[in-house]
Amino acid sequence: MRMYDLITKKKHGEELTKEEIDFIVSGFTKGDIPDYQMSAFLMAVWFKGMNIRETIDLTQSMIDSGDRLDLSAIKGLKADKHSTGGVGDKTSLIVGPMVASLGVPVAKMSGRGLGHTGGTIDKLESFKGFNVALTDEQFINNVNKIGIALIGQTADLCPADKKMYALRDVTATVDNISLIASSIMSKKLAAGSDAIILDVKAGSGAFMKTFEDAKALAEIMVQIGTGVGKKTYAVISDMSQPLGNCVGNSLEAYEAIEALKGNGPADLMEACYTLGAYMLIGVGKAKDENEAVKMLEETIKSGSALAKFKEFIAAQGGDTSCIDNYERFPRTEFKEDIIATEDGYVSDILTDEVGMTSLILGGGRETKDSIIDLSVGLKIRKKIGDFVSKGETFVTLYANDIEKLRAASARIRGAYKFSSQKVEPPKHVLAIVTSEGIKTM
Ligand code: URA
Repeated sequence: MRMYDLITKKKHGEELTKEEIDFIVSGFTKGDIPDYQMSAFLMAVWFKGMNIRETIDLTQSMIDSGDRLDLSAIKGLKADKHSTGGVGDKTSLIVGPMVASLGVPVAKMSGRGLGHTGGTIDKLESFKGFNVALTDEQFINNVNKIGIALIGQTADLCPADKKMYALRDVTATVDNISLIASSIMSKKLAAGSDAIILDVKAGSGAFMKTFEDAKALAEIMVQIGTGVGKKTYAVISDMSQPLGNCVGNSLEAYEAIEALKGNGPADLMEACYTLGAYMLIGVGKAKDENEAVKMLEETIKSGSALAKFKEFIAAQGGDTSCIDNYERFPRTEFKEDIIATEDGYVSDILTDEVGMTSLILGGGRETKDSIIDLSVGLKIRKKIGDFVSKGETFVTLYANDIEKLRAASARIRGAYKFSSQKVEPPKHVLAIVTSEGIKTM
């Protein structure tokens, strides 16, 4: 087989066989296929697409490129959730402890943020000392002992995806549904859980800008997961505005704790209850969404989810004192309120620009080696549909650098659009995709 011929085949829109896909993925992972040929191939896929069979084979080849996490030593069925990336998405910090407090083991592998979207690990590192570099043995022991543990992506899991993603990132080939679906699902499947719940975001802060694209991605991922025998569900959720009211690592950790204490904003809680419900349904702990949501609400009311969160942070070496004393979180030197210059309803928020504002403040990574400032970020005081009076604050910025604060202030003003007409706030959960079909809300 020659890579040249396979690039040509895909360039003409022809279907590749499993053997051909294996040849490409393993050759590229080993370094036998150079970046320039792989780049050409990825661009051919971007233009001509892959069908579902090719996408499933691509996922399988990426799984086979490295190790799999063996979770068989964990008692009970395990559930995992994954978000396609959003702004203000701190759901893992809330849903994990809620589900774990109901006796469902949560063995989660998470990533760091890149670009305008945040990462769960960065948020958890707001708890001084929190360690995600557990050995496989420590990881499994923690899940068996307290019901929840979280580790970073290990290099030996899906190395093909790591290499391909880095190349896609610089060749404008990230935004292809087959490439995204296989990238996400290979990592989720190699990570070994029995049920996979996907949070597919749609809107200005997400990879998928429209509901239709998010639906197509959700359907393919559910097909891939179901095809290999895993219970797989996708929740399509709105990302036309940030989730909750905080963006930035320790600010999001603070908001997650408030949610666990029963003070979470409505959209964030809706997201957590829906994702948590499908985790419970996926492992057979609840028969339907109604029953599952009641169980999850009780974990908040009783304080059991908060107690589980404390246990989880402590078990991985994190400082739990900030859970009861927010002053112990990393703090910023400066704070600026962004004030409305006239009356109006918030009609639109360019959510990726909100993420960029956090990045400019130092809260996100421009490259994977960037060092981030855990303390900076934004509090969103007004969301779509809210009325803002002239002189009222609609966002508060938290910064440690005056120049960055100035740049962020201009950027966030540009992210907000106002209207004199009343505006309907968007729904948060838009649809649920299961192997049986789609239910729109
Ligand atoms: N997240 C991933 O892990 N991979 C993609 O391709 C896009 C989002």
